Amino acid sequence: MNIGKYKLKILTSGFFRLDGGAMFGIIPKVLWQKTNSPDDANRIKLSTRHLLLESSGKKIIIDAGMGTKWDEKLKKIYAVDENHSMTKVLNNAGLKFEDITDVILTHLHFDHAGGSTTFAYSKFIPAFPNAKYYVQKEQFEWAKNPTEKDRGSFVKNDFVPLAEEGVLNFINGNEQFDDEIEFIVMNGHTIGQQLVKISDSSNTILFCADLVPTISHIPVPYLMGYDVQPLVTVKEKNEILPLAAKENWKLFFGHDPEFAFATVKQTDKGVREAERFTSFG
Ligand SMILES: [Zn+2]
Repeated sequence: MNIGKYKLKILTSGFFRLDGGAMFGIIPKVLWQKTNSPDDANRIKLSTRHLLLESSGKKIIIDAGMGTKWDEKLKKIYAVDENHSMTKVLNNAGLKFEDITDVILTHLHFDHAGGSTTFAYSKFIPAFPNAKYYVQKEQFEWAKNPTEKDRGSFVKNDFVPLAEEGVLNFINGNEQFDDEIEFIVMNGHTIGQQLVKISDSSNTILFCADLVPTISHIPVPYLMGYDVQPLVTVKEKNEILPLAAKENWKLFFGHDPEFAFATVKQTDKGVREAERFTSFG
């Protein structure tokens, strides 16, 4: 798919599992298990899915995935699927880490920023050696000093080394990155999460990150227990989803195990899925 000067590709760098109850907050299991079947530890399958935007001068990736800095215990807790990796998916696209010019981080939770750094030569270094990285300044400050509720979601070695290397660029609020790419700040899931809207005069795709992590999270009350400000998420979904329906945006899911994106429509019950897609086709 092309938007403006960019050719878009979908890259899935991995799969892992999180507790189904935590992923769906107050929604009863009898409802969410119909679409997201849990394993015997009550965990549901999730992906780490990225957009790659290629122009003549740039190769931009959105989010960095889980990365490879996982010990055996954590790999087990999160059921990290080792048959997939960023190395493999880049390779399949004919790319290397060196080719990426820009890494846009929606936020710094380990499943989005884990792949930002790698451990080599006895220290943590940027995994994409030639890239500039982008994150909201507020998210960076929050991630350095999270609350007791959300500190399990941040690993300092995923992002502090980027700042120390001078490759981390801070964004302050909603900002137009270039003609096609716009950052939209959302504060419900974590403080200073940025969604990425890519558009031209005919198409819009919204990288929903953890505002709408899977296709099952489109209905407004389907919120994650991880959200630090759930009522803010409710407000944010009520603002963005009707606009997405009206303007026929493609909503891109970073965590859906199967579907990469969907369009949405307004119904009597609120905004719901219209059509679902696994690829740009
Ligand atoms: Zn998150």
